[in-house]
Amino acid sequence: MKKVMIFCIPAHGHTNPILPVAKELVLRGNAVRFYSFNEFRSKIEKTGAEYISCDSFLPKLSSEQEKNLKEVSASEMSIQDIRITINMTDFLDKEFREFAPDVVYSDSACFWGKLAADKYHVPLVVSTSTFAFNQLSSQYMKSSLKETAGMLFGLPKVNKELRRLKKYGYESRNLLSLVSSGNDTDLVVYTSKNFQPYAESFSDRYAFVGPSVFSDAQPQKKERPIVYISLGTVINDRPGFYRNCVKALRNEPVDVIISCGKMFDPQTLGTLPDNIKIHPYVDQLDVLSETSVFITHCGMNSVSESLYMAAPMVLYPQTNEQQAVAKRVTDIGAGIMLVDDSAEGIRSAVRKILNSDGYAKAAEKCCHDFRSCTGAKGAADHIENAPNPSDGKDVIKALNKAIAAEQVIYSGFAVLLGAVLFRKRNKKFLWIYILAAVIFSGAVKNKFQDIYYKKLIIR
Ligand code: UDP
Repeated sequence: MKKVMIFCIPAHGHTNPILPVAKELVLRGNAVRFYSFNEFRSKIEKTGAEYISCDSFLPKLSSEQEKNLKEVSASEMSIQDIRITINMTDFLDKEFREFAPDVVYSDSACFWGKLAADKYHVPLVVSTSTFAFNQLSSQYMKSSLKETAGMLFGLPKVNKELRRLKKYGYESRNLLSLVSSGNDTDLVVYTSKNFQPYAESFSDRYAFVGPSVFSDAQPQKKERPIVYISLGTVINDRPGFYRNCVKALRNEPVDVIISCGKMFDPQTLGTLPDNIKIHPYVDQLDVLSETSVFITHCGMNSVSESLYMAAPMVLYPQTNEQQAVAKRVTDIGAGIMLVDDSAEGIRSAVRKILNSDGYAKAAEKCCHDFRSCTGAKGAADHIENAPNPSDGKDVIKALNKAIAAEQVIYSGFAVLLGAVLFRKRNKKFLWIYILAAVIFSGAVKNKFQDIYYKKLIIR
């Protein structure tokens, strides 16, 4: 019997995959305390874990901070994460002393769980509700100019907050080391090795357990296709998009279910045709088991659940993380991007999926792959065995060593070319050349990484 502390941020997408794991840990006779927020209380109590409320530690937010969080601003999320961690200092001190946990299971975005495990020297296992990220797989995540600028301008504020942590007994860390995990940390990732980009670049301390869901249902598609539409639980207040979906599908030979979230008032859509139903929240796995096309914002959970239920997708990502998930779905052929979100664009994308077997077949293949994974049981094993033994192989270290020479050659070449080009010419444009060389160096590094990654994993 182990004593397990579970920590998660207040978000459905991060909490949902942890619930089956908590239930499995409880069933095995472990003592499980789940530190979360009242919105999730009933879901957590159903797992048998002891629910502990952390609501009183949430800082009061200004309307601007609320707006930033709704827009999933990375710097605002980090600042609030740090403030919650600081607010929880005395409480966590008491909890760790009294409960004396054997292991901490913390969501990857939950700073207080990860930092407290470090502070009290308790083995940590990180729960990752999206892909595992490192320098290779992050190539899938292209930040928009707005996101990059937001992060850059927000960084000084984040760093200021980070420096405060030391005063409260937490190890001082930079933001990158706080949000990401190296190859020597235990991680549970809720996807399969086949679906994870560059899966072989992660060490054996990463457990790819596949989707962690509460459902025994098998996919059972209807004769008359069901189109299910959801933009998830965070950025879902999109009246224009729902209106276009209704316009696109009202005269199509399909039944439509829309989950619109709790912020949007469905009355504003007027009287709906008989084939379209709209709800603030649905049992998504249940609906997906009968769905033939899922129009999704590409949250990792939604996509995993869709593939688990063999439902191909129309992909409508809103953030860079969702872009990465969408790209992976197109890689395996189980969906198409929604390039035009007008009524005509939506109708044509849905028809494309319904009129070709290929997308459904690719989703079915992935469904078999996901169902052969270890799921919540595999996650519970990884947590009970933490710290997990390792063969010590580190593909990323080997890769960086292998590409170091190429990078030196590239830099030397760029300096030499710059010297030749600008020796006699006006130096006015030199900064453009330097900027281009730096941007191009990223692409060169990625290319070399890809080449060596393939070589390293074949060996
Ligand atoms: N969900 C649900 N019913 C709904 C809408 C969403 O059960 O009507 C669940 C869904 O099954 C998934 C989670 O909420 O587990 C959404 O997580 P995801 O990562 O897809 O997106 P997020 O909401 O975090 O953007």
